[in-house]
Amino acid sequence: MLLRLGSSPLPALRRARIYVCGITPYDTTHIGHAATFVWVDALSRVLEHVGIEVQVVRNITDIDDELLRAASEQGTTWQALATQQTFQFEDDMRKLRVQRPTFEPASRDYVTDVIFLTRALLDRGAAYESGGSVYFRAGDLHTASGLSRDDALGIYDARGGRVDDPAKDDPFDAALWQASGEGEPAWESPWGPGRPGWHVECAAMATTLLGLSIDVHAGGADLAYPHHAYENAMVEAATGVAPFSRSWMHVGTVTKGGEKVAKSTGNLVFVMDLLQDHAPQALRLLILDRPWRDSWDFDASALAGAEAKLESLWAATSRPGGSDAAVTAACEALLDDLDVPRALDIALDEGGEAARTVAKILALL
Ligand code: ZN
Repeated sequence: MLLRLGSSPLPALRRARIYVCGITPYDTTHIGHAATFVWVDALSRVLEHVGIEVQVVRNITDIDDELLRAASEQGTTWQALATQQTFQFEDDMRKLRVQRPTFEPASRDYVTDVIFLTRALLDRGAAYESGGSVYFRAGDLHTASGLSRDDALGIYDARGGRVDDPAKDDPFDAALWQASGEGEPAWESPWGPGRPGWHVECAAMATTLLGLSIDVHAGGADLAYPHHAYENAMVEAATGVAPFSRSWMHVGTVTKGGEKVAKSTGNLVFVMDLLQDHAPQALRLLILDRPWRDSWDFDASALAGAEAKLESLWAATSRPGGSDAAVTAACEALLDDLDVPRALDIALDEGGEAARTVAKILALL
């Protein structure tokens, strides 16, 4: 059985290499984070169930403007805030039964790899040095986003693109190496003291740990542009290997009251608060019982519905029945673009082994 993810069936694999963009450790762990990582966990568990060895890299973006700002607002260092928030995040993931990734690299430990990648991009004429920084030539990269130039530029600017940086040839260009300002962390480089840009950090961690091409690149839907578009273009330009990733899994955004769950909108729903009153399996079920790419609105009352469905699933696991054909049909549903709702329908209708298999694969027992 082959896994289909979106429009692309993954070829028969013995080993699947998955890279998921992890957290910036300053506002963890909200329901939006949880959705991304629970879905990647479900993907890993489905692949493991059919005998595929899975390697997951989930990074920590601990060199970041927002993190620096949050640390200075709280009167602490970025290292201390990152360490404390990463600890909280890992604790939340453990409680949500998200398996530990194979590697959990932190940006600060991959600065040398970023410098190597930046040199490769300079050698290939895909980047230029200016004012102690090095920039990636974006060219017409934004056209692939399907956005108009003005809309793409607005989004790019809102997500750290620094479009007004006078050292750039073009506002869409992206810093691979950023000269550090006063009081900002800095590392030595051939271009002077500075720090890595955001997109190239993930490019460096993914290629260093998983190789020049990977099987699945995952992350929240809001990372598709600019983050993943730039990361992909940087890797392909540096290595000459395409595609960098065989498939992309952009997990739907979680909103609350119609607005994205985010620190900037002030509507954060923290996992640790939800787990005070609800079983982790209910939160997993709430996240997974829908198409993975769909955006959805979080409503605390929906957790009661998830709890009721979980009770029904548990009851179904102790019923007799669940033929081999039903087990196969449930597994095929999961392999068909991770169709959890269909697999749950089969589990609830057929019960027995079919229910036990689905509950076990999705860590709902
Ligand atoms: Zn990333």
